[in-house]
Amino acid sequence: MHKPRFLDQMALDLGDHYAFTGRFARGRRPFQPAHVEPNWPRDRSAEIKHIKIELALDFERRRIAGTATHRIAAIADGLAALEFDAAELAISAVRAGGEPIAFESADNKLRVTFARALAAGGEIEVAIDYSATPRRGLYFVGPDDGYPDKPVQAWTQGEDEDSRYWFPCYDYPNNRTTSEVIATVPEKFTAVSNGALVAATHDASARTRTFHWRHEVPHSTYLITLCAGEFATIEDRAGATPVLYYVQPGREDDARRAFGNTPKMIEFFERRIGVAYPYAKYAQVAVSDFIFGGMENTSATTQTADTMHDARAHLDFKSDPLVAHELAHQWWGDLLTCRDWSHAWLNEGFATYFEALWCEENLGADEFAWNLRQDRGGYFEEDGHHYRRPIVCNRYRAPIELFDRHLYEKGSLVLHMLRRETGDALFFKALNLYCTRHRGRNVITQDLQHAFEDATGRNLDFFFDQWVYKEGHPEIEVSSAFDDKRKLATVTVKQTQKTSEAVGLFRLSVTIALMDGEGRETRHRVEVREREHVFVFACGQAPKAVRFDPEHDLVKTLKHKRGREALELELARAPEAIGRSAAAHELGLEGSPQATAALRTAMLTDGFWGVQADAAAALGEIRTEAALEALIEGVSLAHPKARRSVVRALGAFRANSRAAEALAAVLEKGDPSYFVEAESALALGKTRDPRAFAQLEKVLERPSYLEVIRAHALAGMAETRDGRAIAIGREWSAYGRPPRARVAAIGTLARIARHKEPARAEIIDFLTPLADDREFMVRMRLPGAFEEIADAQGIAPMSRLAERDLDGRIQRRAREAVALLSEGKSHIEEGDRLRDDLDKLREQNKKLQERLDKLEALSRPKES
Ligand SMILES: [Zn+2]
Repeated sequence: MHKPRFLDQMALDLGDHYAFTGRFARGRRPFQPAHVEPNWPRDRSAEIKHIKIELALDFERRRIAGTATHRIAAIADGLAALEFDAAELAISAVRAGGEPIAFESADNKLRVTFARALAAGGEIEVAIDYSATPRRGLYFVGPDDGYPDKPVQAWTQGEDEDSRYWFPCYDYPNNRTTSEVIATVPEKFTAVSNGALVAATHDASARTRTFHWRHEVPHSTYLITLCAGEFATIEDRAGATPVLYYVQPGREDDARRAFGNTPKMIEFFERRIGVAYPYAKYAQVAVSDFIFGGMENTSATTQTADTMHDARAHLDFKSDPLVAHELAHQWWGDLLTCRDWSHAWLNEGFATYFEALWCEENLGADEFAWNLRQDRGGYFEEDGHHYRRPIVCNRYRAPIELFDRHLYEKGSLVLHMLRRETGDALFFKALNLYCTRHRGRNVITQDLQHAFEDATGRNLDFFFDQWVYKEGHPEIEVSSAFDDKRKLATVTVKQTQKTSEAVGLFRLSVTIALMDGEGRETRHRVEVREREHVFVFACGQAPKAVRFDPEHDLVKTLKHKRGREALELELARAPEAIGRSAAAHELGLEGSPQATAALRTAMLTDGFWGVQADAAAALGEIRTEAALEALIEGVSLAHPKARRSVVRALGAFRANSRAAEALAAVLEKGDPSYFVEAESALALGKTRDPRAFAQLEKVLERPSYLEVIRAHALAGMAETRDGRAIAIGREWSAYGRPPRARVAAIGTLARIARHKEPARAEIIDFLTPLADDREFMVRMRLPGAFEEIADAQGIAPMSRLAERDLDGRIQRRAREAVALLSEGKSHIEEGDRLRDDLDKLREQNKKLQERLDKLEALSRPKES
């Protein structure tokens, strides 16, 4: 799956993570409550060798009916009965070897009993007739009153364990089977599934068409797919492999823009992995209302139609990360599949790292470093503000909970560190060995480690132990000194993380670069093993800058105090953009006039947009008049992502009319980039300029890719704290408005409710019924909204959402909200209790004092 957080991804691109996802930083807490038990992989009593699904789709009644036929082989002697997963399916008959057999259907399981027990290896065909009106697994989408233009489509989503909602099956990754899907759909529709198209037939009298797909390479159940709708087909090729894009008619240009690099990526991955693309074709089907970014169904990926975009969006938005991710899964996930979800980083960490590898190939080292930096940002956010867990972890309530930033982003970063640890040649040799040795099989992390050890001769216990089975990361402090007499540079590296059973000391291969005044570097590769490790290098003169891990390969935090001169040198001369950018960030914290001047130069002249963007962000941190002057110059930078950062930084100048004017001018004039306009709208709101609200109201009229402009204008209105935003927020969160604008409007209402007490009850009443909204994104946004409002009234609707929603991600988020709000509530209650206690104590104190006074009076010698 691509990051179940396509929305977050957009927001990360856009910088204001919170405004769009509502994921509140809450401080690190346990990943799971203590009572959650480990999940062990499932036992199998039979091997499913082939599954044939014959299915008719009734779009009007949103119903399916058909037969699933399994060819099974007993694993041990005496197989008398077999259990299938069958959730909310109505089973009408079961046959084994053509003869009707007894079956029982209860608790989302189907149990069939054979007439005669099978011996080990004994095969039989089990055919199951069934029908369903699926609520999960298979989704019908189509127009309604709110969205009359929505196309009629159906698509499936098996991962993690939802295939059982659309066909009876063994629904766990540790079985691999060939598969066949024979789907009957309305005659105008195309049905796409795994493998090769065997036949497509037309029944003129029934006005239906039947598509017969057959997939010959065994794969796991969750990868079986069916997408149906009225599609235009774009045909492409990668060598001998047919490459197809199925999209809504009329969107062909947008589709080419989104998916057009697919053939190049296939060829690149084949070269990198050394294993040819293994299936009959590679299709990408773009569907409406998809609940993930993409899903790597074998040879037939499902993609969200949202990734298709126009030429204006293409200026600074690309679908390549999504496309590369799903394509990489065709090897990592589909050809080799995690045996159980606790090892799912072997799917997701790999796909995420291969996104970065394609970026490195296509756009070069600096963009690659930015890609990994974004991965680090995602991981650190989760680790620092939500929870920490080992990458391989079997304690979860629903498997989807594991599909987080530890699995994707940290998994990717661990592969990158493994690459740096072993070197490029051995890394890719080992990946090839892992892939060829285990192709067509289920894998666990030990398989990867063994392949790396066999290919490199290294023992990697320490590496996998510290990065995969334990949790956390090194927290590093670096200091340096120079002994002028002996011409020795000393670099001291301390690991300051708190160690425990879960987090150890790390063993790290790392580069230390010593830079002279001309920017020339001597680089040393060292291994840090100790809590405090001192490295001494012979050096003709004092280095002007010492850089630890100059390419930012390690997952770590770093404290390394160096003077402004060293930072300025790094900002001007570091060969990697990521190093210049780090210097820009620190100069922003330093904040002197000299730093401001250096940042201005970098913002205006650096050759890489990312450094320009970070220099602008640093100027926003400094927030002086000189910084403002520089940023106003920066509004005309050429790269849209650099401009985006400039306008965002201008938003840091609260109640500053010049910053507000500069932003208003961008909005007035318009920018070639949707995203720059969007960011300007949010930043203008943040300035809280008195004219901002009226300007944002005008911006609300502008349509844009994925509603980025409206969404940011709504977020900007919330920032103004203007009560007029309530009516607008209500209007834009209504069913029928574009879903992403609705999500943003909910965020607006939540923020206003938090800051405007009198409006709170009204807004809570308004938001509460949205827990039953038909739109996934809207329900997903609610827990964050209620967390922000921070009112105990939110507990009841969020408890109901946690219990009733069918989506595991929404359940988890709603549970988090309930926990946070209950804590808030218990703090209030505890406060009340303490106040009560205090009153009682005061009362007692008063009485004691009175008695004391009386006693004193009595004991006083009588005068007279
Ligand atoms: Zn994925």
